[in-house]
Amino acid sequence: MVRPLKDYISLNTFFCIILIIFILAFMIFLSFRNYLLFHTTIELFSIIVAFGITIIAVNSFHSDNYYIKFIGIGYAFVGGFDLLHTLGYAGMGVFTNSSISLSSQLWIIARYFEAITLLAANFFINNRFKGRYPFLVFSGISILSLSSIFYFENFPDTFINGHGLTPFKNYNEYIIISLFAAGLFLLFKNKNYFNTIVFRQLALAYLVTISGEIFFTLYISVYDIENMIGHLFKLVSFYLLYKAVLETKINSPYLELAKKEALLKEANEQLEHIYSRISDGFFSLNSNWEISYLNNNAAQFFSERKDLLIGKPFNEIIDQDSLVYNKCIESMSHQKKMEFEAYIERISHYFVFYLYPSVDGISVYFRDITETKESQKEIERLDQLKIVGNMAATIAHEVRNPLTVVGGFIQLMDSKEKNQQNKDYYRLILNELDRVNSIISQFLSVAKDEIKEVSVENLNNIINDLFPLLSSDALKHDKEIKLQLEDIPDISLNEKEICQLILNLVRNGLEAMEPKKAVTIATSYNQVNDELILSVKDEGKGISSENIDKLGTPFFTTKDNGTGLGLSVCYNIAKKHGAVMDIESSCNGTTFSVRFNSKNDDIDNQEAN
Ligand code: ADP
Ligand code: MG
Repeated sequence: MVRPLKDYISLNTFFCIILIIFILAFMIFLSFRNYLLFHTTIELFSIIVAFGITIIAVNSFHSDNYYIKFIGIGYAFVGGFDLLHTLGYAGMGVFTNSSISLSSQLWIIARYFEAITLLAANFFINNRFKGRYPFLVFSGISILSLSSIFYFENFPDTFINGHGLTPFKNYNEYIIISLFAAGLFLLFKNKNYFNTIVFRQLALAYLVTISGEIFFTLYISVYDIENMIGHLFKLVSFYLLYKAVLETKINSPYLELAKKEALLKEANEQLEHIYSRISDGFFSLNSNWEISYLNNNAAQFFSERKDLLIGKPFNEIIDQDSLVYNKCIESMSHQKKMEFEAYIERISHYFVFYLYPSVDGISVYFRDITETKESQKEIERLDQLKIVGNMAATIAHEVRNPLTVVGGFIQLMDSKEKNQQNKDYYRLILNELDRVNSIISQFLSVAKDEIKEVSVENLNNIINDLFPLLSSDALKHDKEIKLQLEDIPDISLNEKEICQLILNLVRNGLEAMEPKKAVTIATSYNQVNDELILSVKDEGKGISSENIDKLGTPFFTTKDNGTGLGLSVCYNIAKKHGAVMDIESSCNGTTFSVRFNSKNDDIDNQEAN
């Protein structure tokens, strides 16, 4: 059976810890037997690690991980100075002036290189350095410090026999500790660029190094326990560093990946931000027909949370019979860009969709065009009115004349004695002729675009004059007319046409009601926007929402002997008076409001024309 990876890792870690403890125990034992050998072993280990880091980094010079490259260069110098420190250690006898002071001078320089390398490397996570500049700078510093120690011999003492470490040594160790602490701080700041394991190893390496450095400020003799503990810490810290670099460059080059991921994430967030600002909808489907991306507006369109939609099959969020679904299939199968409009009943809005297919999915972009659609409808209605108007003018002219002739002859035949038995038929024919004539008159009034005979009048007077006529009309069917007239200013209007408008609206109201109900004619004045409102309210059954859109379309009628022209005439009259007509309808009745601008500039202009 294959062991789960998790078990493997924990076993590996466990093994490592046991090994480290064993090595540390052995080293402690060694330190008591032969301190020089103990020191040399530990230093050699860290020197090998330092050079190892350099080798790994040098081998990755083609990569754009400048963090590792910088550390690689720095650790070559750390390793070099640590080697000199080891060779110069008291008892090694390599240099003529081998002493504790000499070796700890070299030690301090090695630690400076280490601390500065780790600290400055943070700067190269997102920046590049050119060619061999860091190498040249480190070499320069090395030559200066080496000549100060070996040639000029003016490098301050770090150790005085019998007294222990000099303040110079300790202050420098404190500075080095601060540099390591700053490095640790930057490491935390750049946490996102490291994979978790590497980050932990590096952070631990820093902490162990800092602890070790503290011990190195405490010893009085190099054989003191503090010196031994400091070296053990150094051993562990280099081991951790080696693990971290190995992890980054060989086991899993996460640093690079994490860095690229961070950049990608940033770019993605930027894109996301742009898409979410677009007020139109956008979504894309992958080749499995699952949502792979969508912006906020698209999520709103599907009435679902964005995160819940990602990865969902398209047929689960949209009806398979829907136009959008089928067009997407069509666009994909023909690999053809498409554009179409659709009415989405669920939200009662019109949308225009653009489909962009590709081999691995389809991108859909859509925009709400309900408002445009509505104004388009209004324009179409007005266009229809115009066509009807022109038609009416011609028909009226052509039809009226023969009708007058027909009417004349019927009247003539009616007056003849011998035709007495047909009298009822003649009445009927004449009545129907009257009706045809009245239809033609209505046609004509739709046709007329400009108004003639404008006068300044008060709407209330017109209504009051009409009242007896309207009331008698209503009473015939056991209905009633009520007036609610407020004080209103005079406006310029064409009296005949306004009478026609009121008549049509009141008739419609009366026709829509059961007996015993009332139609209310009201006027009011809104001083704020200078608007004069005439409203005709009935207590009828209301108008269905599908019919409300058709109101004002010539010939639209729901009545058996209606003409479907009454409201067209009203709209036309309102338009000619620069007024706007609104409808409010419910099952308790309908209110038509005509809002006149009391200044009525439109009319005055027309008059001037
Ligand atoms: P007609 O009255 O000849 O049918 P109109 O243009 O005056 O033509 O009206 C068109 C249609 O609008 C009517 O057939 C009716 O269905 C509807 N309508 C108009 N006014 C009302 C109203 N007050 N209540 C209910 N329906 C109305
Ligand atoms: Mg009517």
